[in-house]
Amino acid sequence: NAPLSEVDPEIAAVLEQELGRQRDYLEMIASENFVPVSVLQSQGSVLTNKYAEGYPGRRYYGGCEYVDVAESLAIERAKSLFGAAYANVQPHSGATANAAVLSAIATPGDTILGLELAHGGHLTHGMKLNFSGKLYNAVSYGVNPETFLVDMDVVREKALEHKPQVIIAGWSAYPRQLDFAAFRAIADEVGAKLWVDMAHFAGLVAAGLHPSPVPFADVVSSTVHKTLAGPRSGFILSRDMELAKKLNSNVFPGQQGGPLMHVIAAKATAFLLASQPEFKDRQERTLRGSRLLAERLTADDTRAAGVDVLTGGTDVHLVLADLRNSEINGQQAEDALHEVGITVNRNSVPFDPRPPMVTSGLRIGTPALATRGFGDAEFTEVSDVIATALKPGADIPALRARVKTLTDAFPLYPGLAQ
Ligand code: PLP
Repeated sequence: NAPLSEVDPEIAAVLEQELGRQRDYLEMIASENFVPVSVLQSQGSVLTNKYAEGYPGRRYYGGCEYVDVAESLAIERAKSLFGAAYANVQPHSGATANAAVLSAIATPGDTILGLELAHGGHLTHGMKLNFSGKLYNAVSYGVNPETFLVDMDVVREKALEHKPQVIIAGWSAYPRQLDFAAFRAIADEVGAKLWVDMAHFAGLVAAGLHPSPVPFADVVSSTVHKTLAGPRSGFILSRDMELAKKLNSNVFPGQQGGPLMHVIAAKATAFLLASQPEFKDRQERTLRGSRLLAERLTADDTRAAGVDVLTGGTDVHLVLADLRNSEINGQQAEDALHEVGITVNRNSVPFDPRPPMVTSGLRIGTPALATRGFGDAEFTEVSDVIATALKPGADIPALRARVKTLTDAFPLYPGLAQ
């Protein structure tokens, strides 16, 4: 039982270097966050040793009396946080949650209708190389070419044309809220099930700062590690107990074997924290931060030539910078921000003229910095640094110094050593 640094110094070095990177850079990847130390503790605990196939009270292994408590807490907390009748907290990831959802509510060969990947949809919503595109007849709706918004008339037309068994609402890169009631009405009109994937905006929903899909959807899936700030994993909700048995059996044994009990315990803690006032404050700062970012990227005094913001702003935790008219492309912009100490990801914009490895967009999110403690002043400063870094000939060392002032003022995981 020697420590990692002795057993495997190479991996110990990776952990240490990654902690240093997270501390020294400003994390603005929209799907990332910093979990609290309490969550790290569960994930690094002896619960990783336990097999617990089945569900609480109905396991295929002995010795589950304590992990049953953890999973039951996670289930009850998820149900109460989101007002759902049913929760399954076993999915190892968002993708496995989505695979289980589809296998529960559709049959291979059925038609599924989701947001086009290139317009902000997710791989699991019907991409050709993904299980969702291979097993199902995947068709898609795109955003309006002028407004870049999901147009419910188009969704309805596509639904009437293709008569899907499942309609999917949810996104990985979209800066506005979806109209869940309109999706419900369309699903009812064509006799489809409505599945909402709230992976990105679940934290905003938990804080009451984004409409909840739970009352409208047949099934809701999510990750825990984005705005929700919990361990890397997924979960499934429903208001409809009639689907409970099907959803459970499609997670286990349908998609997975033994659940990750250390991760499930960490999910329970994340759901508990998400019900507390500090979490709501953090989500409010997240939203104010992304609005400030959209404003500063397009303000006369700060804007870099040719830089725009898709849909003109944001209602969520991310901004999509539109570089179609900029001299610098998504790859160059990502690299420039990396040099000043800000981590983002380049992202295709809808109707992108540049290839997918280059792109004409950046997806920039505020959840991780809000967790780090940023408020309006810091978000304004980081937004100005970003806008300046996107200008040709920007003074990179000066911008790096401004980033360092911010990272020094908001230490990450103080006292933690890996
Ligand atoms: N669903 C959406 C909307 C996502 O954005 C993501 C992750 O990017 C996922 C599902 C998949 O989550 P995971 O990476 O945990 O499989």
